[in-house]
Amino acid sequence: MKIEKEELKKKAIEAIDKRRDEIFSIGDSIYNEPELGYKEFKTAEKVKQVFEAMGIPYEEKIGITGLKGVIKGKQAKYNVAVMGELDSVISPKHPDSDPITGAAHCCGHNCMIAGIIGVVYALKDTDIMESLSGNVSIMAIPAEEFVEIGYRNELIRKGEISFLGGKQEFIKLGAFDDVDIALMQHTFSSENEETNTIKAAAGNSSNGFIGQEIQFIGKESHAGDAPHAGVNALNAATIAITAINAHRETFREKDYIRVHPIITRGGDLVNVIPADVRLENYIRGSNIEAILSATKKVTRSWHAGADAMGAKCIVNSLPGYLPVVPNKGLQEIMYQNLKQLIGEEKVIKNAEHTCGSSDVGDVASIIPTIQARIGGAAGNFHSDDYRLVDKELAYLGAAKALTLSIIDLLFDDAKEAESIVKDFEPVYTKEAYLENWGNIGDKFR
Ligand SMILES: [Zn+2]
Repeated sequence: MKIEKEELKKKAIEAIDKRRDEIFSIGDSIYNEPELGYKEFKTAEKVKQVFEAMGIPYEEKIGITGLKGVIKGKQAKYNVAVMGELDSVISPKHPDSDPITGAAHCCGHNCMIAGIIGVVYALKDTDIMESLSGNVSIMAIPAEEFVEIGYRNELIRKGEISFLGGKQEFIKLGAFDDVDIALMQHTFSSENEETNTIKAAAGNSSNGFIGQEIQFIGKESHAGDAPHAGVNALNAATIAITAINAHRETFREKDYIRVHPIITRGGDLVNVIPADVRLENYIRGSNIEAILSATKKVTRSWHAGADAMGAKCIVNSLPGYLPVVPNKGLQEIMYQNLKQLIGEEKVIKNAEHTCGSSDVGDVASIIPTIQARIGGAAGNFHSDDYRLVDKELAYLGAAKALTLSIIDLLFDDAKEAESIVKDFEPVYTKEAYLENWGNIGDKFR
């Protein structure tokens, strides 16, 4: 008897609904124990337990905490990965933040893991894989948020990682070498206004960026009695920030440039002229050329501030994330599935360009990749008013959209996967990515 694709999709939806309690429980459990990037040991353990219970062969400790499990199809023509992120952000005032670390899941990454665990149940509780011509990789990836730059640079110095971002590290370690297509979804804030009826988007473009660590070195002296004998590193930093602000009129709207430094150390004692001032900074933009051009201006500004005061300035520029350009073919598949699941009037194919960034851009520069946006949250992301209000959508909707898209790609001899892979033009090969983007900071030394 010929199996129809729609039958498989129906089976997948039913299987996910049946596992509702387990999916809610892992999503909630991760929400309640938020961990920062490259420290997601408890979160990784929760994913590992599902892999063990479901009999999925897996690799672990990829990039310290990452995992990759594989579910085999009837033949291994293509390998489609579904990606979820293990880490949280810091929002100490969030009511559900960790009282010690201040970590909170106010970027919704717990929904991503709930989503990929839903995919596991759909594919392992049923015989769906017997009709699919490819494997499915379940990837739980650390450190999407590009934060704690000092801590992660220390991990790099110790040789534990090479990149600040987890997907970058996965690329470097070869975890994507056998992957042909990558699918992901990220929760978004769909429940803010009564008038807002959009619950999901099949994809959108977003900014990339270069990260910077900056140190101004001056000379200490008594702030009251002998400021003339010191060199004020904080003044050097503020002059540099003023110079950066003067560049803002040169940034073109179409490039969506964002530059947002923070001072992480402003001095040591109020009656001592600051001699060690440190900052972290991002330079974001919608395309690589614009990011590089803005980074040159910003880097000149740091040094100009130091020159003005006779201070010393050390700028360490780091490969941030590449701009995201959604794959058109995958976007169409995701759009059709979201329409079917949520209703045409509540779904858009292409959401607005966002000025945030994700290391999904790095994956998308090498293999065909999509990041859909699925609602269920309210309030502002990365802030204390973020709330997860519709778990049916954020957990189960995510699992269903990903599973149905896998079925589309790998059913019927994996025809759809084949055409997407054939039409794809990478920005970089893996080798060129590691060589060029991996060493992008060298251009600004
Ligand atoms: Zn996020």
